[in-house]
Order: sequence, then C-alpha cells, then structure tokens
Amino acid sequence: MEHLAARNVVVGAGAVGSAVAYHLASRGEPVVLVEQFGLGHSRGSSHGAARITRHSYADPDYARLMPSAFRAWRELEADAGRSFYVRTGGVSFNPPGVGYADRVAANLAGLDVPHRRMTGDEWNAAQPAFSLPADYEAVFEPDAGMLAAAKAQEAMIELARRGPDTRILIETPIRRIDLDGERPTLVADGLTIEADRLILAAGPWTGRLLPELAPTLRPTRQQVLYFRAPNPAPFQVGRFPTFIHMGGGEDEAFYGMPEFLGPGVKVGRHGGPDVDPDLQDSTIADDYVGRLRAFLARHVPPLAEAEVAATETCMYTVAPEERFLVDFHPARRDVIVASPCSGHGFKFSILVGRAIAEMATAGAADPAFEAWKRRP
Ligand SMILES: Cc1cc2nc3c(=O)[nH]c(=O)nc-3n(C[C@H](O)[C@H](O)[C@H](O)COP(=O)(O)OP(=O)(O)OC[C@H]3O[C@@H](n4cnc5c(N)ncnc54)[C@H](O)[C@@H]3O)c2cc1C
Repeated sequence: MEHLAARNVVVGAGAVGSAVAYHLASRGEPVVLVEQFGLGHSRGSSHGAARITRHSYADPDYARLMPSAFRAWRELEADAGRSFYVRTGGVSFNPPGVGYADRVAANLAGLDVPHRRMTGDEWNAAQPAFSLPADYEAVFEPDAGMLAAAKAQEAMIELARRGPDTRILIETPIRRIDLDGERPTLVADGLTIEADRLILAAGPWTGRLLPELAPTLRPTRQQVLYFRAPNPAPFQVGRFPTFIHMGGGEDEAFYGMPEFLGPGVKVGRHGGPDVDPDLQDSTIADDYVGRLRAFLARHVPPLAEAEVAATETCMYTVAPEERFLVDFHPARRDVIVASPCSGHGFKFSILVGRAIAEMATAGAADPAFEAWKRRP
C-alpha cells in the first residue's frame, strides 16, 4: 500500500475541484487533485461545451454575488490568455402570475445591471424566433451569455499544473474517508493519502463519501437535446440569446442557448428524477423529447420540429431550495465540503474555488458566502 502525505488534497476534478486546484496553486500552495475518472469525462455535472451565465437571478443571495463572479471569470481569462465568456444576451420569461421576471428585474435594478422589461409581444417583436403569449412577462439582460465550460476547465487544470507542486491523480477513486485520526485520510485502491486539508468537490458522489450528507445532496438526472433548425442562421451566437422559462409548476422550467461549439441549439428542462450516480445511463426518454418539442412549439416554434442532432445526460446535485453547500465539515475545519451545484453552479465555480482556497489557507469562511453556509 502506497502512502502519501499532502498539504492540500482536492477530491473531484469537475468545475469546482478544478477551480479550487487552480486557486490553491496560484497562491503557491501544493495540491493533490484526485479524480476517479479521466479529466474532462462526461459522467458528472461539468461536461459539455457551454453553460449559461447571468446576473439575472430571482434570489438576491445569488444575484448579489454575480458581479464578483463575472470579475473572477475575467481574471481567469487574463491568466489563461484566452476568453471563455461569450456575450449573447439572455431573456428570462414567465406566464402572468409567476412573478419570476419581476423578481429578476428588481435584483438587476438593485445591482445597476442593464436590463429591459418587456411583455411577451414586445419580446417577440425584438426576437422573431420566439412566439410568447402576449401577456407573458420578460426581462432581457444584454450581459448574460455563456461560458465555454470544457475549455475553461481545461485552462484551470493547465494553470493548476503550473503551481510549484501540483499532482493530478486520475482514474483514482477514493473509496472512503477516515475522519477518526488527527488528520483526514483518504483510502483509494492501493493508496492512502493523509491530508493537512481536505476539500471534497465530489459533486453527485458527495453523499457516498460523507453519508450524513446523502439526504441533503440529491443527485438527479438531467437530459439535454441539441436541436438543428432547418434554417440555423437565426440561432447562432450574435442573433439568438440564452433563455430561461419559469412556468408556474415545478417541472415547467426550461432553458436554452444558441448554437456554440456543437451541433445545434441546446435545450433542456431544469429538473429530473433522483439517480444513483454510478448507474447513470445515456438513454433519452421519448416522452422527454415530446415535452421539449411541446415547449418549443409554444415558445420557439422554428425549433419544434427540428432534428435532434445530439443528446447529453448529466447530473445535478440538488440541495433543499436549490441552495449551495460550501462549508467546513461540522466537526473539523481541516475538511471543506463544496457542493455548489443545484443545477446552476457552473457560473459560480471560479468564485467558489477562490473562496475555498481562502478558507483552506486562512481557516475562515468568506462572509460573502454566509447565505450558502446558513442554508441548507
Ligand atoms: C445539464 C446541465 C446543465 C447545467 N446548466 C448550467 C448553466 O447553464 N449554468 C450554470 O451556472 N450551471 C449549470 N449547471 C450546473 C453546473 O454544471 C454544476 O453546478 C457544476 O458543473 C458542478 O460541478 P462539480 O465540480 O460540483 O461537480 P462534478 O462536475 O460532478 O465534479 C465532481 C467530480 O468529482 C469526482 N469524484 C466524485 N467522487 C469521487 C471519488 N470518490 N474519488 C475521486 N473522484 C471523485 C467525479 O468523478 C467528478 O469528476 C448545469 C448542470 C447540468 C448537469
């Protein structure tokens, strides 16, 4: 059995673990980053070409962190010498009575983020690919856009490798974590790692390593379709925005984004059934395709009959109220748990990575993240 002693051990090389490794290495800290699969694998939450980014949040706790998140992405871009943010503009819309666009607009106004309120009719006139009912409520944020997810993660890993002492162990599943000793110890096949500080960024598998968190952090199955319109020109970056539809019911949240480094317009329903993270399968249910087509027929008709050019499955790790969990382990400050997902964590990953690097090295939580500490 090989034994390793390390100052900082990060479990999980998804968006969050990669960001933590990058920020620790940038501070001159030694890092061991451990991943059960290969880098850039497609069995967790972070794969795919793009994720939506936006200040447009209905919950003020998230909205107020977005200006710092946008800045943190710009800093990564400067470090990497490449850009990952693609400005497309983004619209949030809802049927009357839901109030989502109202809450988003109030938060944007409070943050001085440019935006424009519109009715469904006004939005259709501005963006003819859409066909919202006239009485829908919409808010458009010109600075919303996409982050090139896979490219950004590659860059974070590449920059982490430039640190003074970075080791990346792939295909190394951590089977168990022993928290009984003086220092946290990770047990893999034929390897134990003793850490001064352990950062768990294991996404949907967090509950496997810390079973007490399993009821709080539920892995759920997400399905994404890429639609190729017969006339793709109106759906390219520069013409088509990202969109979020918030209906009245629990399963009526849909999102989409323009064609970008892939075969078509990405559309998905936000939400899905609980899943065992080790038993994910890539089949897309026919009734799911039917639901997306029905949504598109009502709201983006040119895509309703479009060919499905590709599909993806992915997982959310959902905490109550779709909150994030970013905190020290309740019993010890040398273990930090980072589960900022709940289906909307990519845009925050770079900021969370910085906050965790600070927590690990300074032993104190960033007060900006108090809301996430309190809940769930
Ligand atoms: C379909 C979909 C669409 C999304 N859209 C958006 C969006 O538009 N905007 C947005 O901001 N966010 C979005 N998100 C959410 C965002 O992608 C996630 O919040 C983020 O990717 C979570 O990253 P993570 O690092 O926590 O998890 P993961 O990417 O799952 O990383 C966890 C890693 O830990 C590894 N691991 C786990 N257990 C072990 C172990 N025992 N030993 C070693 N390694 C281990 C896993 O293999 C994995 O690589 C979306 C998510 C999905 C699935």
